[in-house]
Amino acid sequence: MSDLASIEAAIVRYNANPHYLLQILRDAQGELGWISPETTRRVAARLDIPRTRIDSLVRFYAFLHDTPAGAYRLRLSDNVTDRMQGSEAQLQRFLAAFGVACGETSADGLVSVDLTSCTGLCDQGPGLLVNERAIPRLDAGRVDEIVGLVKRRAPLADWPQTLFEIADNVRRADALLAEPMKPGRALDAAIALGRQGVIDEMKRSALRGRGGAGFPTGLKWEGCRNAPGAERFIVCNADEGEPGTFKDRVLLTRQAERVLEGMAAAGFAVGARRGLLYIRGEYDYLRATLEARLAAMRASGRLGVAIRGAAGFDFDIEIHMGAGAYVCGEESALIESLEGKPGRPRIRPPFPVTRGYLDKPTVVDNVETLAQATEVVIHGGAAFAGRGTRASTGTKVLSVSGDCERPGIYEYPFGVRLSHVLEDCGARDAAFVQVSGPSGACLTPDEFHRAIAFEDVATAGAFMVFDSRRDYFEIARNFARFFAHESCGFCTPCRVGTSLQSDLMDKIAEGRGSHYEVNELMRLSELMRRTSHCGLGQTAGNPFNDAWRKFRPAFEKRLQARDFAPAIDLEAALGPARAATHREDALAHLEAET
Ligand code: SF4
Repeated sequence: MSDLASIEAAIVRYNANPHYLLQILRDAQGELGWISPETTRRVAARLDIPRTRIDSLVRFYAFLHDTPAGAYRLRLSDNVTDRMQGSEAQLQRFLAAFGVACGETSADGLVSVDLTSCTGLCDQGPGLLVNERAIPRLDAGRVDEIVGLVKRRAPLADWPQTLFEIADNVRRADALLAEPMKPGRALDAAIALGRQGVIDEMKRSALRGRGGAGFPTGLKWEGCRNAPGAERFIVCNADEGEPGTFKDRVLLTRQAERVLEGMAAAGFAVGARRGLLYIRGEYDYLRATLEARLAAMRASGRLGVAIRGAAGFDFDIEIHMGAGAYVCGEESALIESLEGKPGRPRIRPPFPVTRGYLDKPTVVDNVETLAQATEVVIHGGAAFAGRGTRASTGTKVLSVSGDCERPGIYEYPFGVRLSHVLEDCGARDAAFVQVSGPSGACLTPDEFHRAIAFEDVATAGAFMVFDSRRDYFEIARNFARFFAHESCGFCTPCRVGTSLQSDLMDKIAEGRGSHYEVNELMRLSELMRRTSHCGLGQTAGNPFNDAWRKFRPAFEKRLQARDFAPAIDLEAALGPARAATHREDALAHLEAET
């Protein structure tokens, strides 16, 4: 197919609808390798939008690029757990084999090698994306195999499938993960309950959103149903980008029926006809299987026009792919992305439940929340509320990674102690646990008696274990880099603050920091917390605060005794100038001037 035909096919696939701009660009890039000026011109003309809109989208999403990248685009996951599993050595092996620097494309255009944020393979890292296909468990042997395939220019479709095998690693299953749900069971149960009955059971269950905020799901569904307007939407947030989180990947693999029927049950309850499943770009490999499941649901009358047994209820689900922007996990940013725009968080209120997708009432629920909703409609709200704690009902799925013998997925009733999880996963020497990713909290052994629950240790699911060999300062520095990389740039406190924070942490790591930098970090952290527009900026200072409060000696040993140390060694920096001018006399040295 010619380039023009590929671009046109992507446009036609989405009816030239500007709300699908991100999907159109993803598809065009998938065919052509990059967003060329021709693609931009053509798409802008056919969608009747300014070219600048396309440019801003390409600049915003890490997976889109308007310069030719390698025919093979290698992106190594750079989460702290990947580093612990040896990602740095594998990166160097790739760079040496291809003769490129990190972030560069080889001169012959064959390959580019770069880093990316967490790819959701923390339990089987180091992770790698090759042209958006995920490869786990990188080691020297796998790197050499991939290098050979790339150098032979083997089409990705011909690569050994063993390279792409991703394990579910379910170590402890409870109500949700114990066994697959019989197709149709949740939807039949919802229809039998009736629209009001579903909402009543959801409220009775006291199910709270599993994405982190913990908002009562029944109230959200009721609010959406009661909001004025003729059209409503159900959005499933499968953009789990929090480093250390991979449970939604496993739920979409093992319990896709639950997630999809949870969306349909929500649609039935609130009166929506369309569901949008937004999946992070790193999980592109899940798409084909999910499309097949949706097709099977349509074929059996569980999706599409006139769903069996519910006269007047039509509901269908479409899949949207993200493109490498962590901030899109925030619900209003995700809606912006669904509308084909850069994923910048909206000013709230209004909340999505009244004005969400296309400004219409919208329920945005996390993958796990929708899967849990099937438990509620099948077994009833009271049974669901009988598990867990009073304020945190049901079970919680945790993504466990790091220094433990059995990393993977663990499902427990809410209220489980950290010590219990540590024992189950074989963490023999846990020195600290990072719960809920970089934006969460670092807990030390004196807190291991605490419980996973909204009223105690709240978490979206990440549970990263670190033993006594690990240095929390370095982990906090990795997290600071992550926030600086992922800030969407919309508001100044976060855009500038996260960069300054990362630079200051680097300065301290290089031995050039003093208490001045610590005070600056404290000031920045407070400023970001108070004035940032969304949760990313508001929580970006958490790792520094934990490092300073809980690991003070390790932090202080890096500080110089002076009140201030410059970031640059001026004397050394002037060396090349002295050499160029053949000056080595005393006046050419700074000390001589003072
Ligand atoms: Fe964007 Fe950061 Fe502001 Fe959130 S806090 S809107 S991520 S710049």
